[in-house]
Amino acid sequence: MTQVFEIEHLHQPDGWLSPGYLEIGGDGRILSVSAKKPEGTNVTTLRGFGVPGLSNLHSHAFQRALAGRTEFVTGARAQDNLWTWRKEMYRMVDRLTPEDYEAIAGLVYLEMLQFGMTAVCEFHYVHHQAGGQFHANPAEMSDRLIAAADRTGLGLTLLPVLYAHGGIGKPVEPTQRRFAHSVDDYLKLIETLRSRRGDHANLNVGLALHSLRAVTPDEAKAALAGMKAMDPKARLHIHVSETTHEVVEVEAGLGARPVQWLLDNIGLDADWCLVHATHLDASEVAGMAASGAVAGLCPLTEATMGDGFFALTEYHRAGGAWGIGTDSHYSTSTAEELRMLECGKRLQLNRRNVIAQSENGQEAHSGRILFNTALAGGEQASAQGGGALVAGRRADLVMLDPDSNVLLGHGPQTALDGWLLGGTQNPVRDVMVAGKWVIRDRHHPQQAAIIEAYRKAMARLTA
Ligand SMILES: [Zn+2]
Repeated sequence: MTQVFEIEHLHQPDGWLSPGYLEIGGDGRILSVSAKKPEGTNVTTLRGFGVPGLSNLHSHAFQRALAGRTEFVTGARAQDNLWTWRKEMYRMVDRLTPEDYEAIAGLVYLEMLQFGMTAVCEFHYVHHQAGGQFHANPAEMSDRLIAAADRTGLGLTLLPVLYAHGGIGKPVEPTQRRFAHSVDDYLKLIETLRSRRGDHANLNVGLALHSLRAVTPDEAKAALAGMKAMDPKARLHIHVSETTHEVVEVEAGLGARPVQWLLDNIGLDADWCLVHATHLDASEVAGMAASGAVAGLCPLTEATMGDGFFALTEYHRAGGAWGIGTDSHYSTSTAEELRMLECGKRLQLNRRNVIAQSENGQEAHSGRILFNTALAGGEQASAQGGGALVAGRRADLVMLDPDSNVLLGHGPQTALDGWLLGGTQNPVRDVMVAGKWVIRDRHHPQQAAIIEAYRKAMARLTA
């Protein structure tokens, strides 16, 4: 059945319609958008600001269970960094059951919806049982993520991760056995998951290579060829250049810095999402921006790990695509992630409005540039079919409450600045995915049950 909404202020790629009329077909796609009321139809009026749902381009849902649990030092951990955090993460991985995996993902996906995200790219690597044996259903853990997405209503671009080595030239460590596949077994898993798509709305399946440390060049090429044979337009993700340690290891092992190696040996294009890309030299910034690949920035996770600053202004000025992910879920908030990105850079450069100043001299609002760029990058990395409130796209609509503290006194010109840079209250009131409301008046029908399942999983994991 067709639905028609009159939205007080409707976000468009180049401005706002006030009001805007959004016509949505029974298939969950947008039929039309206009400034004129369509004739002879029932129209539902929505107050506030209607913006497209954002795709979160990087998540390890289970890591939410670790947030706030490693924020201390001991004698043995005086030098705390990503690698010491990873040890703690592996300790938790050892105890994770499929039920825990689903319960944690349920909470994380619910939170994403509550903050205005309508899809997630799940970079999923905990595949097997604790000792490394396959589950009776080798796709068990993947199926748990699909179940969590179905329960919450979030779109899911599932990226099973190929993880075959513990470092360049090294076998996987005992703690990494749950992650490891041969290329053949990995491609079988992808094939199985692709067959799930008929039964699950809003499920997309892509490929992820954990990093250039975890796959050899031959394994990377074989996996990519296998994926392309199944789906030539599949989304392709990889962790890259998160730490200087990784850059040094790849340079020593493969003869080039990681992004440069990918440009020269794999070839990057708009199908790729390079997660983090924190440590780039000038030629990698230029090459990556020109390739069309998306930079998968995870500002609060990178800040929490002490990774370093992405070359945001240089890369944005070069026309590079980027989006945001919440990665380890120190935050699941669109506003917090984009604020960390922009304000981190302001602190580093001693300037205001750094992203807006990268827009080649035009008058520009930081909130709008941050949001629109993350929106386009998220859609490119997830291929969910949303990303804009225009005809033909999936109807992923987020209504921002004009009575929220952060939006009081704001009109369309500054509403995105108010939401993303002007306060901490969350203005997301209603969320629609593919034409169906999943949150109305801040209420998700499964909310209490999802939180209860998470509570039980955390009690087990921390007992
Ligand atoms: Zn990651």
